[in-house]
Amino acid sequence: MNEKPLNSLPTDRLQNGASVAVLDVVVVGAGFGGLYALYRLRGRGLSVRVLEAASDVGGTWYWNRYPGARCDVPSVEYSYSFSKELEQEWDWTEVMAGQPEILRYANHVAGRFDLRRDIQLDTRVSSAHYDEDERRWRVETEAGEVFEARFCIMATGCLSSPNTPFIEGADDFAGPIYHTGRWPHEGVDWKGVRVGIIGTGSSGVQSIPVIAEQAEHLTVFQRTPNYTLPAGNRPLTDSDRAKAKAVYDQLRQSERESITGFVLGFGGNPVPTPTDAILATTPEERLAAVEADGFEALNRYLDVPIDAEANELACEMYREQVKRLVHDPKTADGLMPRDYPFGCKRPVIDTDYFATFNRDNVDLVDLRKGGIDRITATGIQTAQGHFEFDALVYATGFDAMTGTLLRMDIRGREDIPLKATWEAGPRTYLGLQVHGFPNLFTITGPGSPSVLSNMIVSIEQHVDWISDCIAYMDQRGLSTIEPTVEAEEKWIVHVNEAAEGSMLTAASCNSWYLGANIPGKPRIFMPYVGGVGEYRRGCDEIAARGYEGFALEAART
Ligand code: FAD
Ligand code: NAP
Repeated sequence: MNEKPLNSLPTDRLQNGASVAVLDVVVVGAGFGGLYALYRLRGRGLSVRVLEAASDVGGTWYWNRYPGARCDVPSVEYSYSFSKELEQEWDWTEVMAGQPEILRYANHVAGRFDLRRDIQLDTRVSSAHYDEDERRWRVETEAGEVFEARFCIMATGCLSSPNTPFIEGADDFAGPIYHTGRWPHEGVDWKGVRVGIIGTGSSGVQSIPVIAEQAEHLTVFQRTPNYTLPAGNRPLTDSDRAKAKAVYDQLRQSERESITGFVLGFGGNPVPTPTDAILATTPEERLAAVEADGFEALNRYLDVPIDAEANELACEMYREQVKRLVHDPKTADGLMPRDYPFGCKRPVIDTDYFATFNRDNVDLVDLRKGGIDRITATGIQTAQGHFEFDALVYATGFDAMTGTLLRMDIRGREDIPLKATWEAGPRTYLGLQVHGFPNLFTITGPGSPSVLSNMIVSIEQHVDWISDCIAYMDQRGLSTIEPTVEAEEKWIVHVNEAAEGSMLTAASCNSWYLGANIPGKPRIFMPYVGGVGEYRRGCDEIAARGYEGFALEAART
């Protein structure tokens, strides 16, 4: 069969006197998703252009340069598996690498595989419209450049549109304001500076200990305390690296078959298999477990993720350990999560988070005792009083999963906007495609394991599937692929059923998985809980059955 793309297009043409780049594939975004999509699809002989809003590659790791930023999955797993040479030549220095090292890795990949020549930086895509007559996507940038392509791949990231909540008076603040997701490249010198930080999700929890070490004073404004666990990060030795490199093949295979896409846990040790039922334990036994193992004791129990009563016992153990770590009882109490289940949000990992609150220069403002009224020229006015500082940090997260896609004007058949199709929440088949939007693919889209997993494993799986799908189409002279309404509906029902009854969808859980962090966003559980391994098998079977659930159209002659 012919592997060469049948419909390869001329590279450039004139439209109303302006040049339009014509390609097989436009990829939006040059994070880990976009870089790998370019590598794979160019390897198939397709003409590909990656359009990236940032001034360099790396995506998440380009933008999130806040102090303390690092991955929450061991780096030997949070890395590409597609090249054995890359695996062997790259040396990670820590179990969980910091942002500068991960960004260096992304740059190394871009250079090593000669990707940069097809990446256009400083280019923000404003719209992508499907032309039904031509069966092509017309992608336009903010600068007015136009690209036309048979396929459009949105590798725009699940956590790439920062959320800056509206707080009255924000414009009045006299000092500098930062967002963890848009950190200045030159860094910030905190010496002699009094800092206020809003938010205690992963970004807040990672940055608070590092800012506290450098700043004159740090005031932490916390609306909801988090269940955060120690990362157990440490430098890797030559021997650690040699051991990891010797077993990469087995490691990657296990990741692909696993539920979460990783098999090593905190400290780079194998994730323990829970063996006990917490409901069968006595209070004395639970106390002894905390005494012996601290937060790690929580890994022992099978029933915590699936049973509300069991989960509450685990929460009690968690609070007991916080009490042991934080000296001031009032601060300890303020840092204790209550009223929502352990494990309902993406796990937060930290280095010295609780110990930071024992420092003299750190104060906690527990907003549960009185919320923020407004930002003033010199600080934040809360119902508990006014708190002064010189610089303000928002660690307030992202409009996750759908936010970046919906910021663009994406239109499918009959000029219907994605915004309208997703008005009540995202609708996809496999998180890969949306009915009414032929040949548009989303990498780690809603309805796929995505943010519940080691995302590089999920990115590689999506890109490989899409690449194979395009090859299948080209071999058979097919020009478009699009999910049927029925298949999409069935998948949505399956995604919802899979999440039902788990802690992830508990009514008391206000996670960004549910869109609960953005006022007015539909409360829908967006990722697929079924697990990375099962999802992969399902996608492969669907492809093997001739792309079951998708409608494929023959190319016009
Ligand atoms: P991104 O890296 O987000 O890249 C998307 C790119 O698209 C960005 O560069 C963006 O500028 C660009 N873009 C968006 N819109 C447009 C547009 N309209 N026009 C042009 N370009 C556009 N996941 C894990 O599995 N483990 C971790 O340890 C982990 N740590 C994280 C830490 C932080 C601080 C954050 C925010 C996320 C973390 N994640 C982690 C999730 C992380 O986003 C993914 O692991 C992965 O990096 C996503 O890659 P991506 O290419 O899909 O998206
Ligand atoms: P997040 O988890 O959404 O946390 C945002 C924080 O800001 C929460 O504490 C939230 O409080 C608070 N907040 C938001 N609006 C507020 C308001 N108006 N007033 C007061 N507080 C407000 O965002 P994130 O910390 O950036 O993390 C997002 C995701 O990115 C993570 O879950 C993870 O997937 C990824 N990430 C990973 C790492 C890592 O460890 N590798 C690091 C950073 C990010 P409420 O909880 O009350 O809403």
